[in-house]
Amino acid sequence: DPRIPRIASSIRVVPDFPKKGIMFQDITTLLLDPKAFKDTVDLFVERYTGRDISVVAGVEARGFIFGPPIALAIGAKFIPLRKPRKLPGEVISENYVLEYGTDCLEMHIGAVQPGERALVVDDLIATGGTLCAAMSLLERAGAEVVECACVIELPELKGRERLNGKPLFILMESH
Ligand code: IMP
Repeated sequence: DPRIPRIASSIRVVPDFPKKGIMFQDITTLLLDPKAFKDTVDLFVERYTGRDISVVAGVEARGFIFGPPIALAIGAKFIPLRKPRKLPGEVISENYVLEYGTDCLEMHIGAVQPGERALVVDDLIATGGTLCAAMSLLERAGAEVVECACVIELPELKGRERLNGKPLFILMESH
């Protein structure tokens, strides 16, 4: 798709952030280019329109940027999947393993009903641990995860293999 090279070139790579050796993919510069931002959202909307998706779940924090415009355009609700102790209502939690230590995502109980068809959105997949935890939350609530969608995949980390065969849609790979 001819829109993808412009989106790719709008993403800034910051070496050694947040620590030495990491090439951080910074999507805040994509947001500064309204055409690139719109094209990004449109590419997802084109893929998910008419797929009977009633829930878009966005992962804190950058899934909160891309998820809501996709949800509005396809007529779905939006659910924030948040870091611990941010959501005020009753939650279910899913712990997951990071390179050093563990992290956790939480979802409000009652946000999704059994049988609903869900899309999970984040900016980037690295090891896949975050998306795996996000899918578990939705599935524990009885939803069916149709697909995961990210702007960027870091293919060397093989995160795709951690998604238990669930389809992953990305706009670009980064190396
Ligand atoms: P994973 O769980 O290892 O797949 O890591 C993915 C999570 O870490 C996502 O929520 C990303 O937003 C975040 N992340 C990891 N690396 C980067 C990066 O280079 N840029 C932006 N986010 C990143």
